[in-house]
Amino acid sequence: MAANKKLLILPGDGIGPEVMSQAKRVLAWLQRRRAVSFEVSEALVGGAAIDAAGDPCPEATVAAARAADAVLFGSVGGPKWDGLPFEQRPELGILRLRKELGLFANLRPALLPDALVDASALKPDLVRGLDIMIVRESTGGIYFGEPRGIHRDAAGKRVGIDTEVYSEEEIARVARVAFELARQRRHKVTSVDKANVMQSGRLWRSVVAEVHQAEFPDVALEHMYADNCAMQLASRPLQFDVILASNLFGDVLSDLAAALTGSLGMLPSATLGALQPDGRRHALYEPVHGSAPDIAGKGVANPCAQILSLAMLLRISFGMAEEAQMIETAIERVLASGLRTADIMQPGKARVGTAVMGEAILRELDKLAAA
Ligand code: NAD
Repeated sequence: MAANKKLLILPGDGIGPEVMSQAKRVLAWLQRRRAVSFEVSEALVGGAAIDAAGDPCPEATVAAARAADAVLFGSVGGPKWDGLPFEQRPELGILRLRKELGLFANLRPALLPDALVDASALKPDLVRGLDIMIVRESTGGIYFGEPRGIHRDAAGKRVGIDTEVYSEEEIARVARVAFELARQRRHKVTSVDKANVMQSGRLWRSVVAEVHQAEFPDVALEHMYADNCAMQLASRPLQFDVILASNLFGDVLSDLAAALTGSLGMLPSATLGALQPDGRRHALYEPVHGSAPDIAGKGVANPCAQILSLAMLLRISFGMAEEAQMIETAIERVLASGLRTADIMQPGKARVGTAVMGEAILRELDKLAAA
């Protein structure tokens, strides 16, 4: 039982607070009905923090995040702050938190509930039962490597440079996260690289193979070139369990996998840090979507991605697999009953807003708890 786990809630901006209020109802339900106790606190981030404290990620928020066992994040940003210089923008709130907490492994599940099979970009037969976990290295690689920039060459022509750099430690630690997750799933990791044309890819492939052989021989490992992986995701996605990829390839492949599942409003994510000597691991959970300024304040946002992020948090950070499964099942049942927020609306279904969706999920949780 997860007694006294510290959970920090950062609702943020736009639809962030709207969908977070539904996740909070689920949390309150858990405390009431499952006799679990969390120490829940809340802090400011993003535009809300700029307005209140002049900083998208105030020290107090960073300190609270460090002290927490897990952070549940909403979303940040919006037109109100669009005119600010880059270094003051709300989006820096999340970037700073990732850096301060050393979050290097981004987890994006691509899971397709049966009720939404028709919303996929692929034919139902190709995606029914889809359940992939993409593990993307998120603090290294080409988005950070030096040298980078736009320079003039000797002839005065501009040259753009980015550098893919990976150390074996960076590769090994994210590979371990992928193998550990595979152990809780279907025991298969597909490691993605371009070892045929990139030196960093050659290192990636050999380090992943070494970690596998030394520590995870019980998990099946296959290596796949990134271009082939894109093609396989779009043609035979059911073959995958856990996909492990660098920052760049993971960025592209996770969006491709997202298209297989239909809507942004359904997609949760997690970002994990290193396992510390005391057994704790910093972790931040958030929906994949942003603050959706076009629908903010209208009460129509889909709360499922935020609530599914909470389910991931319970499973990964708090070891509460049963409660996580209950939440996921409740959402599947609500969708099967025909309720839909606008983003996942289909002909013949009943269109509802954020709060009604949240209520319906609580009702299904009640039924599951009574069963
Ligand atoms: P977005 O994800 O906010 O919205 C894209 C589209 O999807 C919009 O039409 C929106 O209405 C819809 N949508 C998103 N979430 C939804 C939900 N839960 N229910 C129903 N519809 C939903 O992306 P954007 O429009 O490119 O960005 C808007 C703002 O969010 C920007 O300021 C951007 O910087 C910020 N952003 C923040 C994060 C984050 O906080 N991690 C991530 C992405 C974008």
